[in-house]
Amino acid sequence: MSAGRHVVVGGGLAAAKAVETLRAEGYDGGITVVAREPHRPYERPPLSKDYLRGEAERDAVFPLAADWYAAHDVELRTGTAATALDLAGRSVTLDDGRALSYEKLLLATGSDPRRIPLPGGDLAGVHELRTLDDSDALAAALRAARDDGVGRLAVVGDGWIGLEVAASARTLGLDVTVIGLGTHPLERVLGPEMGELYGQVHADHGVHLHRRAEVTGISGDGRRATGVDLADGTHVDADLVLVAVGAVPNVGLARDAGLALDSATGGVVASATLQTTDPDVFVAGDIASVPSARYGRSLRVEHWATALHQGPHAARAMLGATDPYPELPYFFSDQYDVGMEYLGFVAGPDAYDEVVVSGSVPDRELVAFWLEDGRVEAGMAVNVWDRMEDVKTLIHRDGPPDRAELESFVG
Ligand SMILES: Cc1cc2nc3c(=O)[nH]c(=O)nc-3n(C[C@H](O)[C@H](O)[C@H](O)COP(=O)(O)OP(=O)(O)OC[C@H]3O[C@@H](n4cnc5c(N)ncnc54)[C@H](O)[C@@H]3O)c2cc1C
Repeated sequence: MSAGRHVVVGGGLAAAKAVETLRAEGYDGGITVVAREPHRPYERPPLSKDYLRGEAERDAVFPLAADWYAAHDVELRTGTAATALDLAGRSVTLDDGRALSYEKLLLATGSDPRRIPLPGGDLAGVHELRTLDDSDALAAALRAARDDGVGRLAVVGDGWIGLEVAASARTLGLDVTVIGLGTHPLERVLGPEMGELYGQVHADHGVHLHRRAEVTGISGDGRRATGVDLADGTHVDADLVLVAVGAVPNVGLARDAGLALDSATGGVVASATLQTTDPDVFVAGDIASVPSARYGRSLRVEHWATALHQGPHAARAMLGATDPYPELPYFFSDQYDVGMEYLGFVAGPDAYDEVVVSGSVPDRELVAFWLEDGRVEAGMAVNVWDRMEDVKTLIHRDGPPDRAELESFVG
């Protein structure tokens, strides 16, 4: 048995997949997972979807069974935060005052919700959603609000999490309002064309959408939230408020230790093998800023599949592998009966020339391609399945795409 110890800081999917891979690859030294939350590492997509609606068992969110850790001789320190790193001494300080030495360290500290200083933000009935406990609290509140009457939920933010919770809450029977800064929901990630597809999906399901709306505060009766105030003077009545305005990567530990950060992405600088500027420290998941050969820049991707793939990749790199991380960014979302998968990267709503759609927008069965300088940068399949390998081929193709081929992609 190796005398060393690898330490993984984080309690999400990247951490779980990394330790699973360390053992699967035959590493027989010590492994310790340091996870701030009271739970063993879990994945988050169900927290706004089936788990929130009470349709999925709690066990479904954990990639590894409770007894897996002991059975594989992995020490799990839940409810314990890493507070400092000593790179020269190769040790991690924990919030219980102890220190852990490591041979190699993986940082997979993920993100926290972006918190905006809103007057009334600390009233009862105001929620955020990142953790299992957040999801449990929100689920209980949604049910209680519904059972008390109609139950009105106001969602501040029209990004993925806000819209997914809106869909779940409508499905549970609540009256839902979504308040967004853009003209179209999801505008910053999808642009207006495909953002509006989601605007229509939600309007069809009876969600009230406030567009180009700035929230100035949350009003209340002194104890509980009673609504949301907008800059144009509108007041949205609500029994519950979800503030879902994005996420901020947890890079403080890395920054304070002196690891380089990427000012363009806000993540921890990593090589293509997920190694940081310290050769014994690796990163994976939401915090990792990783060079992409296809896009010619470093990307930091806050998506489930990145954690799923980078966790194992980082683990193999900790064991000496040197192959570059190969995956294109991929994510999915489920809202009502609209399922979608997205592959590729577009820097924002101004970073593409056009969107070419194959299939039917009104029927919500389509594949959309984002083109820039004659190349396919990304593709999104809505209720069209098993075509991501074909989308990937188009993204990797060097020359300009054949327009007729794109338009007839959905046969
Ligand atoms: C509600 C919700 C729904 C989502 N749905 C989708 C979806 O449908 N599709 C999709 O592609 N992506 C989705 N995502 C995004 C996806 O879940 C994230 O990209 C993914 O969780 C990132 O995994 P991670 O392991 O990097 O970090 P995280 O899952 O954020 O885990 C990091 C963990 O590290 C812990 N930690 C942080 N700092 C410390 C410290 N100092 N010491 C110890 N522990 C620490 C945190 O408490 C946390 O448990 C969703 C996210 C949320 C919140």
